[in-house]
Amino acid sequence: MLIDSHAHLDSERYADDREAMLRRAWEAGVGTVLSIGIGEGPSQMHQALDICRQFNALPPESEFRPGAGLPQLYASAGIYPHNTHEADNAALAKLDRLLAEPEVIACGEIGLDYYYEGTPHPMQRESLIRQLEIAANRKRPIVIHCRPKDGATDAWDDLLDVLEKHWRPTGLGGIMHCFGSGWEQAQRSLDLGFLISFSGVLTFPKAQPLREVAARLPLDSLLVETDAPWLAPVPNRGKRNEPAWVSHTARTLAGLHTVSEQEIAAETTKNFFRLFHLGAGVGN
Ligand SMILES: [Zn+2]
Repeated sequence: MLIDSHAHLDSERYADDREAMLRRAWEAGVGTVLSIGIGEGPSQMHQALDICRQFNALPPESEFRPGAGLPQLYASAGIYPHNTHEADNAALAKLDRLLAEPEVIACGEIGLDYYYEGTPHPMQRESLIRQLEIAANRKRPIVIHCRPKDGATDAWDDLLDVLEKHWRPTGLGGIMHCFGSGWEQAQRSLDLGFLISFSGVLTFPKAQPLREVAARLPLDSLLVETDAPWLAPVPNRGKRNEPAWVSHTARTLAGLHTVSEQEIAAETTKNFFRLFHLGAGVGN
């Protein structure tokens, strides 16, 4: 089965149909979803875990439950780059407490965003480093968001410097979420022990350079994700995205590697479980 390695299941846009949306994911062959816990800021960082527990806890006798009608959910927690002005000691202590929970397998999405004007770059970097320390202490891999200014690699240059110094020694690795950069950044990420996750952007007509990068990467470095509710893949581009549609991205990736969709599903699932040291999951 497929794994959606990055979805914002706590988005208000699922308020009316969250369970039905998760059932559609299961029906589309999605066995596991990583629910990203950033909310609209640190005060909502716990929401992904709450959703994870709500659905994972459905009793065996219920008609739909994880492994029989619903995907298995895991959660992350982190402070998004443009929310790092709120990353005070209380927020960082909350992050540390969340990362101690067994379902919260990753710290993220954290990183650097220089695309939008907002939180000053030095503050983003400093807060990233503090979150890396917390994640290392809890032995949690990280989920990285990195977005440079158009036509630049500024955020990537800074990010990779930070990770070389502060993350490589931990050996914990992580995920480059919604990867959108070039071959050099992809290679440096692999050198750091990261997996490269592709979103629906891979299906967009203008993404030919990105498809060329994806085609060159080894199968054991790949993941797929939706970043739902954003970035719906073709043929649903522009609509509210949901985990079921990760299958479109997986199909594109399979085509680039001339392997079957089943093989891409098996490889990306294996990579996810390896990174997080999880046992063979539901449907595997
Ligand atoms: Zn995201």
